[in-house]
Amino acid sequence: MRTQDPKTIYLSEYQQPAFWVEHVNLTVSLFDGYTEVSSELTLKKNPDVASRELVLNGIDQDIQSLQLDDKQLSSADYHYADGVLTLNCDSEQLIFRAVTRIDPQNNTSLEGLYQSGSMYCTQCEAEGFRKITFYPDRPDVMATFTTRIEADAGQFPILLSNGNPVDSGALEGGRHYAVWEDPFPKPSYLFALVAGDLSSKDDRFTTRSGRDVTLRIFVEPQNAHKVDFALDSLKKAMQWDEEVYGREYDLDLFMIVASDFFNMGAMENKGLNIFNSAAVLASPDTSNDQRFERIEGIVAHEYFHNWSGNRVTCRDWFQLSLKEGFTVFRDTEFSSDTHDRAVKRIETVAGLRAVQFPEDNGPMAHPVRPDSYIEINNFYTATVYEKGAEVVRMIHTLVGPDDFRRGSDLYFERFDGQAVTTDDFVACMEQVSGLDLTQFKRWYTQAGTPRLSVTDDYDADSQTYRLFFHQSCPATPGQTDKRPFVIPVKLGLLGADGNDLPIHTRGNYNAGTEVLTLTDEVTEVVFTGVSERPVPSLLRDFSAPVKWSFGYSDEQLAFLAANDANGFNRWDALQQLYSRAILSMAEDHRAGRSLTPPSVLVETVANVAGDASLSHAIRASMLTLPGYAILKDAVDVVYIDDLIAARKHLVKTLATRYRDIWRSLTEKLSSDAPYEFNAEESGRRQLQGLSLWYWLKAGDQAAFDFAAELYASATNQTDRSNALRAVLAGDAEALQQSLLSDFYERWQSDTQMVEQWLTMQAGTPGMTVPGIETLMQHPAFDIKNPNKVRSVIVGFAMNTESFHDARGEGYALLAKVVQQLNALNPQLAARLVTLLSDWKRYDADRGKMMASALETILATDSLSSNVFEMAQRALKD
Ligand SMILES: [Zn+2]
Repeated sequence: MRTQDPKTIYLSEYQQPAFWVEHVNLTVSLFDGYTEVSSELTLKKNPDVASRELVLNGIDQDIQSLQLDDKQLSSADYHYADGVLTLNCDSEQLIFRAVTRIDPQNNTSLEGLYQSGSMYCTQCEAEGFRKITFYPDRPDVMATFTTRIEADAGQFPILLSNGNPVDSGALEGGRHYAVWEDPFPKPSYLFALVAGDLSSKDDRFTTRSGRDVTLRIFVEPQNAHKVDFALDSLKKAMQWDEEVYGREYDLDLFMIVASDFFNMGAMENKGLNIFNSAAVLASPDTSNDQRFERIEGIVAHEYFHNWSGNRVTCRDWFQLSLKEGFTVFRDTEFSSDTHDRAVKRIETVAGLRAVQFPEDNGPMAHPVRPDSYIEINNFYTATVYEKGAEVVRMIHTLVGPDDFRRGSDLYFERFDGQAVTTDDFVACMEQVSGLDLTQFKRWYTQAGTPRLSVTDDYDADSQTYRLFFHQSCPATPGQTDKRPFVIPVKLGLLGADGNDLPIHTRGNYNAGTEVLTLTDEVTEVVFTGVSERPVPSLLRDFSAPVKWSFGYSDEQLAFLAANDANGFNRWDALQQLYSRAILSMAEDHRAGRSLTPPSVLVETVANVAGDASLSHAIRASMLTLPGYAILKDAVDVVYIDDLIAARKHLVKTLATRYRDIWRSLTEKLSSDAPYEFNAEESGRRQLQGLSLWYWLKAGDQAAFDFAAELYASATNQTDRSNALRAVLAGDAEALQQSLLSDFYERWQSDTQMVEQWLTMQAGTPGMTVPGIETLMQHPAFDIKNPNKVRSVIVGFAMNTESFHDARGEGYALLAKVVQQLNALNPQLAARLVTLLSDWKRYDADRGKMMASALETILATDSLSSNVFEMAQRALKD
């Protein structure tokens, strides 16, 4: 809790610690009412630092005894305030021992050791270990750990920690113990401990060099049937990392534990990953395709961290993107290789534009490698993760796949067992490729999304085509002047027949796609031998995370959507066409004019819907309109009512004009085949779900009947939730109520299904603040459970039409929930604050109401530093 204005930490002030830790002996004894932690740290003086001050972090520690070598310490021997214990030590080698008591049963922050349902588990990233015992809790201190856990044998038969099990046995009084040894030096944020009554399922994987690894997933017994998919995903990920990066697993045992109470998606603790149940438990009956895909990606992500994060870790938390940007890039590539690359790229970019671009365009903007923070938990952001991954992707584009692999080999080899920086990563890529990436590194240090405006000129006589690129980057908090970025532009030039023209530039010849590297504010590129005026296809595969513009006519965008050889750019051209139409109709709505979508767009939609040469998944992506997050980010002032009216009008037009198309697609795409999760089948279900949604929007009774029947006869959750979502988006209230009650009746004992049930209701058009308050009173809701809070509160905030209610009741409700969570779970509370952070972009009335909700939050008694930092950043000019 905050007692005064919290302290800001600066990257420029980084210093190595005066003492390193070589080994940790930890004993954690769980008792009802308290937990006793005995730790023994073997410390060694860091010869590179003059100071002799041993600095240990420790929060909520009830000290029983402290000892330095053989000397018991009294409070006169050390200084302990604000979570930091300091003492001076003369020797070069020393042993520090601490016995403390902690209270995991009342730890609702879900950091450190806490109770999740009937089990105990830990979350130590970023700074949770200091809630377990005194420790130099910073990622550059890497030590080997021996962990002994003691607990009641009946209540907690399973006792787990990192590494390999080395001993176990019975103790007096019905208690027992287990000892785990982790031979790999690791930072404290990767420490993990679990105690519970869990069932497990095993599988095996033999690594390329012949190491036999046991894979084991622990879950509560009622979820035992939901682990097979995660085990399969894990094996696929292990094999992919061997093939693509040459990385093998290094312990004999790899464990995953599912926890119902978890702030994040999952955590890559060495050898003992702990997952949010929602990110690991899957069955066709309770998980839809999107959930399967998400689980596969997260299992892979956490596994990949074993190298990119654990073996080579971050020197300090400013380097968070070193492990996260690289690992998100790795898991995205894994998914692309496993399924459909173009579809994955579309999903990734749609997500980036909906979340990261708005973050970069508001008060929360920060560089991929931030310069300062108050609370590091507030920097687990889309910028560090998703933009960080785009930065790694651009390096991959610039150096090429072969040098990228050589660079990553060098990185893993050179820094194995060390804590390093993003500069170290880039230096490896420079060394193997011979490229100078000095200017490129501005992507790590400059915040904001660069703008790239492109114009062209064609001279028929000389058959010369010119493209002019002009880049700029808006000011962001604390950064007014931006210098030019290195921007890789992958492009093609389409001839009138829709095919790529050959590209001649700077003496190079290319049959289709070319990658240009822009380094200056203004760049002119000359293409020779261009036989006709082309339509440029720019930023293919979204080769750089920029906002780019070219003065296309609607017809040219429709042409690209129909012809571009690059699947991603076909989608992107249509997205531009949708956005342009919606934004212009929003202006018409504001001016009281009638709304008419451009006919070229309306016709293109019919062509895409009927284009059997496109995969189902690509068609579904192309027929999905940009969401409000993306539309809001494209205007200077958000008049939300006009945006909503315009987008709804376009949906209604497409739904009614093509009701026969939607009906026929919906019916044709039905299948009795048993459920299988693969690109082909999930694409079919996605297109069917979308067609049904449009068909229902046309208001046909036959569509409601179809949806009710699909819901009733569904043998998997994808079909069931497609039907339910379509019905909830329509206006048949009786049917909605009957399906929702049926859903709850049938699935109330399944945690993941109840979460989906809550999310669907919170997202229903027409949901109201009293409706949300009623939902929060439902026995299925629990404010201490982050998944439930996200389902209802974040679900509601994403429900643009309801959340932005003109009286501001949605904002006031959010402020109330943040105040309540501030004391229980500051990390989660701070995340909710970001839902109001774009207040300045709205019209004056709404902006004022959102700002006043933020001011209410800022005035909360005992405000945590987490929430304080976010609210004051959001309000700051
Ligand atoms: Zn990660």
